[in-house]
Amino acid sequence: MRRKIVAGNWKMNMDLSEGLKFAESLNAYFKSKPVKAGVILCTPFIHLAAVSEIIKNGTLLLGAQNCSSEPSGAFTGEISAQMIKSTGAGYVIIGHSERRTYYHEDDALLNKKTQLAISSGLNVIFCCGEVLNERESGKHREVVKKQLEDGLFTLSAENFRKVVIAYEPVWAIGTGLTATPEQAQEMHKYIRDLVKVKFGTVVAEDLTILYGGSCKPSNAAEIFSKQDVDGGLIGGASLKREDFCAIVEAI
Ligand code: PEP
Repeated sequence: MRRKIVAGNWKMNMDLSEGLKFAESLNAYFKSKPVKAGVILCTPFIHLAAVSEIIKNGTLLLGAQNCSSEPSGAFTGEISAQMIKSTGAGYVIIGHSERRTYYHEDDALLNKKTQLAISSGLNVIFCCGEVLNERESGKHREVVKKQLEDGLFTLSAENFRKVVIAYEPVWAIGTGLTATPEQAQEMHKYIRDLVKVKFGTVVAEDLTILYGGSCKPSNAAEIFSKQDVDGGLIGGASLKREDFCAIVEAI
């Protein structure tokens, strides 16, 4: 069965005490108001272990925002998928456009990270999406297809089932511009059709595809109402309690 998910990407925000306070308040809120969707907090690495303790008797889930492409060893400053798993986190975001742009992460590297994350027992939220000129020149489908083929389609069907895809048009991330519900639906259906051809109907129908890009309480319900939109990856609005809770409730 396809699972609805709302994931909050905190990015590089909140120090340890701010983050823990925020997690405590969200944990209390969702304990008293259970929702059917999976709600994932994707925190900075330093928060993971302590947030894991906070949410252990609640309904929230936990994820990281990146992992190393190497399993262990002399890679100063890196955090492995196994280390993330050991905190109690169950998810990791891979291929966010900020990592692709600022840290030059390409599809081959993202494929390596994805394989390693899954073999370490994590579920992957794999991001894809085109930049503005690619959309304007009509290349958006081609760009997303290549990101998925090179990043994910080498996985076995069994491993692919550990993946959630987040379609995030780069021109809509943190800009206030949002894809229209129709643009989101059109791309999500295109992605599901590609997965159908590669892995078959059952895997494609079970796949959760999230929309990300300036999602907020005022537009979430309409975007989430589309047939192939199974939830959202939320950046800025995930840092505001009322907004994040309202977006979760919109699902
Ligand atoms: C994101 O960073 O994944 C994102 C969707 O950001 P925002 O919601 O701020 O556009």
